[in-house]
Amino acid sequence: KLYNQVQDLKGNIRVYCRVRPFLPGKSSNNLTTVDHIDDGNITISTPAKYGKEGHKSFSFNKTFGPSVTQEEVFSDTKPLIRSILDGFNVCIFAYGQTGSGKTYTMSGPKELTEEGYGVNYRALNDLFQISRQRRDSFCYEIAVQMMEIYNEQSGMAVPDANLVPVTSTDEVVELMNLGQRNRAVCSTSMNERSSRSHSCLTIHVHGKELASGTVLRGCLHLVDLAGSERVNKSEVKGDRLKEAQHINKSLAALGDVIYALAQKNSHVPYRNSKLTQLLQDSLGGQAKTLMFVHISPEVDALSETLSTLKFAERVA
Ligand code: ADP
Ligand code: MG
Repeated sequence: KLYNQVQDLKGNIRVYCRVRPFLPGKSSNNLTTVDHIDDGNITISTPAKYGKEGHKSFSFNKTFGPSVTQEEVFSDTKPLIRSILDGFNVCIFAYGQTGSGKTYTMSGPKELTEEGYGVNYRALNDLFQISRQRRDSFCYEIAVQMMEIYNEQSGMAVPDANLVPVTSTDEVVELMNLGQRNRAVCSTSMNERSSRSHSCLTIHVHGKELASGTVLRGCLHLVDLAGSERVNKSEVKGDRLKEAQHINKSLAALGDVIYALAQKNSHVPYRNSKLTQLLQDSLGGQAKTLMFVHISPEVDALSETLSTLKFAERVA
């Protein structure tokens, strides 16, 4: 029943917009571009000093203002998680410029507390919990896989591509921390690099109905996308420019794929990027897609904010 609600007018694609709060300690006069935000609508004000004065409004399936908690953000995602145990594939993306809160939504803040747990942790928790509830009629096996997609063309860097069977959320968190540490050793500038690669946590669910022997396979991809900010070509060169071009290319390809699916086009251009190729089985068909788009509230983020909202509105 809950799961049917997910299949509303827009079919299997949903777009949620989240605005993060101002950050403590950051010198800012707390001037915000967000004029108004309520259930599905967001209005951005464009101050006079940025050219034409006025307002722009955008509509999504949901909007979350700066004071919305991690738990509230996740609550609408629960039906999707349940559907994975019924054999559906789901992709959850975090999109936005660097610093807008993608990693916060997916993983949580750096100093992790229980209230801070992000979508990754909560989704896994639900998966394990529901699978235990169904234990009398189903036998579920859950395995996770972590990968990083960096620089499209130069192939995929896949440091932790092994499928690892897991039985609890804590085990997965330990694995993720380990992966993080491994990468930190490999690259001193990992923090910086993480904003330039897509990081993907995939959870494979294999369920067997005990009575009938029927096998169900579902898959959840949790993708913290590379920062969507456009770089100034006159400022960066060489590797940095190449990285930026790969990011632009893959984010544009992702947008095109979701747009084609939303339009129910017969041709869906999966092959235009590594990211969309990799996720092909989980984008379209019976699969469900949820995109969290992230907005920084600061006035100096205005142009990125507008381009993020335009990207998101096209796929919504
Ligand atoms: P991104 O991954 O998009 O680069 P982060 O998730 O790292 O951005 O967020 C940037 C900073 O803002 C971090 O310090 C993070 O803890 C903080 N932050 C982001 N979203 C929120 C939020 N909803 N509430 C409180 N702090 C947030
Ligand atoms: Mg991040």
